[in-house]
Amino acid sequence: MERAEVNITPKQVQQQQEFASLLAALLVAKYNEPPRAHIRTFGCQANEADSQRMAGQLLQCGFVLCDNPDDAQLILFNTCAVREHAEDRVFGNVGRLKQRRQTDKHLRVGLCGCMPQQEHVAKQLKQSFPFVDLVFGTHASPRLPELLYKLYSTGRRVYDISAEQNEIVEGLPIERGSGFSAFVPIMFGCDNFCSFCVVPLVRGRERSRKPEAILAEVRGLVQQGYKEITLLGQNVNSYNQDGYDFTRLLRELDAIPGDFWLRFTTSHPKDCTRELLDVMAAGQHICRHLHLPVQCGNDAILHAMNRRYTAQRYLDLARYAQQVMPDISITSDIIVGFPGESYEQFCDTLEMLRQVKFASLFTFIFSPRKGTKAADLPDEVPRSEKVKWFEQLTALQGELGAQLCQSLVGCTLRVLVEGQGKRLALAGRTAGNQIIEFNGPEDLIGTFVDVEITQANGWKCEGEIT
Ligand code: SAM
Ligand code: SF4
Repeated sequence: MERAEVNITPKQVQQQQEFASLLAALLVAKYNEPPRAHIRTFGCQANEADSQRMAGQLLQCGFVLCDNPDDAQLILFNTCAVREHAEDRVFGNVGRLKQRRQTDKHLRVGLCGCMPQQEHVAKQLKQSFPFVDLVFGTHASPRLPELLYKLYSTGRRVYDISAEQNEIVEGLPIERGSGFSAFVPIMFGCDNFCSFCVVPLVRGRERSRKPEAILAEVRGLVQQGYKEITLLGQNVNSYNQDGYDFTRLLRELDAIPGDFWLRFTTSHPKDCTRELLDVMAAGQHICRHLHLPVQCGNDAILHAMNRRYTAQRYLDLARYAQQVMPDISITSDIIVGFPGESYEQFCDTLEMLRQVKFASLFTFIFSPRKGTKAADLPDEVPRSEKVKWFEQLTALQGELGAQLCQSLVGCTLRVLVEGQGKRLALAGRTAGNQIIEFNGPEDLIGTFVDVEITQANGWKCEGEIT
């Protein structure tokens, strides 16, 4: 188990260790064997990284981790609030535990992360989900041992949705899910306030970790044999510690010796610079994959979204990236049916797809989020119409993505082997984030291999190890 960054003071880090020891002793007395805990994570990689930190804390508290929630005595839902659909899934999953919670006297259920950080959701949880034992938001999560100690020592429900946001310090345990691929958060929160987005409301103001801490963590991971390191932040391009910016950080991380890939996400087009793309192009370890969410291709809608770039600025960036790195893979996020968007404006997004030729997309239908500006805008296009636009978008991307995959046939690419494939024995990803399946022994998992792409079925590629 390693140590990670946290959002509490050094004194509080020590306090949490003390709570973990107290809880561990209490759990030994209560259960004959270490109780099993399961974390179910919804949403983005920031949530995955938080769950890895909470998993480290659970181990410190005397739990063992299990993959199957049916075997667990503590089930923790780490939730996402970005769209209503994500919230509904959480409510459905938690609701299904009601009966088991009432009959199984050892079971405890917790819900944390972005959802309860919204006041109206916290209220709803309190009223409609009384069987949930523990509710806490993103700001309280580094204090998990303390919250669990309160729950297990009093037997009473624990709620902590404080909005208090402290400085970043280093030092809580972390249990990474993989021995070869690691997330390294470099910054927290977001100050951009895109008009559709709840993230700044639930994750607080933007704050960056110290470069020395990030460099030390990445050096340590490379020494331990990690092959893929993904730097995380809602807008990594605005990383800044007293003038030390993201391009400098990336350059210094790239200079670390070893055989590893460096990725980063997410980039914001308003802050992504040609200098950054030049650093990527010159990099030894930096994957030529740029996740650059465009959201839409029409200037009036981009303005209403408060994205602060134009479609032309986006295209210029994408073209420059493709010029300095002809093999770059650009991926993006798109929202269909933002309030006030017309079909003609939506067609500008389709044109953006044709111009950029994204390798893949995350596509969403606009979901109004309480507390955001866009939630109050008049929205006259019916959902059935938005679904048709959405289908048109995904069909076009299907065609363009398949063409890109087809163009890889005959190429030999470096692949990080990630696990078992669905059709062939193994599956892995290229530096461009393309999934490839191929045959080979399982002991290759976690290593780099060269694979010749032999066929493309739609956006899926298959190949042979060379
Ligand atoms: N920080 C990243 C950025 O600026 O691109 C994105 C973070 S957000 C968790 C991931 C994606 O969710 C966004 O890029 C956007 O496409 C989508 N999203 C956010 N709010 C949404 C909403 N209210 N309705 C639909 N999609 C939304
Ligand atoms: Fe949300 Fe915009 Fe911040 Fe991304 S940059 S997290 S979309 S507010």
